[in-house]
Amino acid sequence: MLINIQNIHIQSVKTLSNQDVHTDILRLDLIHPVISGNKWFKLKYYLDEAITAKACKLASFGGAYSNHIIALALTGKEAGIPTIGFIRGDADTALSPTLKEAVSYGMELQFINRSDYRDKQLIQDSYHQSGWYWIPEGGYGLLGAKGAADILNIHDTSSYTHIICALGTGTMMAGLNMSAEPSQEIIGISVLRNHFSIKEEIEQIISQMPEKKSNFQCLHGYDWGGYAKHSAELLNFMQQFWWAEKIPTDFVYTAKMIYAVHDLIEKGFFTTGSRLLLIHSGGLQGNRSLSPQILPF
Ligand SMILES: *Cc1c(COP(=O)(O)O)cnc(C)c1O
Repeated sequence: MLINIQNIHIQSVKTLSNQDVHTDILRLDLIHPVISGNKWFKLKYYLDEAITAKACKLASFGGAYSNHIIALALTGKEAGIPTIGFIRGDADTALSPTLKEAVSYGMELQFINRSDYRDKQLIQDSYHQSGWYWIPEGGYGLLGAKGAADILNIHDTSSYTHIICALGTGTMMAGLNMSAEPSQEIIGISVLRNHFSIKEEIEQIISQMPEKKSNFQCLHGYDWGGYAKHSAELLNFMQQFWWAEKIPTDFVYTAKMIYAVHDLIEKGFFTTGSRLLLIHSGGLQGNRSLSPQILPF
């Protein structure tokens, strides 16, 4: 496959390190320009299962700038399995660059209005055809988490005291929780507003695992107004971070996570001697909704 796992490396982040805390970042964003970051990890076991089941179509859900949808479109193309994306929103609006690109990989789109979109089971029941393989939105579920568990097995990450990632569905964190050392603390930064049920949603995945350890905590209050919401200050932070570290971020996930770490370090959240590993989960699709001159990368 075209995924370059060997591109993943650990990079130190000097602007988030001081005499007390050392911070590194795991660059999952470098595996592929389109199937960037955690979406590949979360998709791979679903894909294996679909291939084993000889599925004739891969179906899933997502928004107009969904990293998951574009990753699925290209993964399906590479695997030779047609894909269909159930997209939140109305068909009469212009296609986003993300959806246009998904269509160029052969994905069929079906638009679902915002209120109907809430009931995924009903969509699945209404549209299902024999031989279709359904992947939950964002890859949420045990197979997604199993794939994400492999994120910590690429390099030796045992020396870190904290593993920190952005939280959408929480699937990635459920996986990290599975493969982290028992002494490591996993911190997820929620990018949704007051999404307090995320903890149970993660516990729900963990409850299906053979080993049920849970060393994680979810932090709220770093959503900047809600999912995909942002401000000039956040975009400014992304620019500063790029100039200082040459690391691109997206305003939906990784910028909010990195800003949170910056803020937590300032507030003395981490004890002296902490070694943080941030997960750069990739996913730069959201940035395509900004005007082209705004970001320097
Ligand atoms: C999808 C995504 C996440 C969230 O992952 P979950 O497993 O849904 O919590 C985080 N970062 C990026 C860049 C993503 O695209």
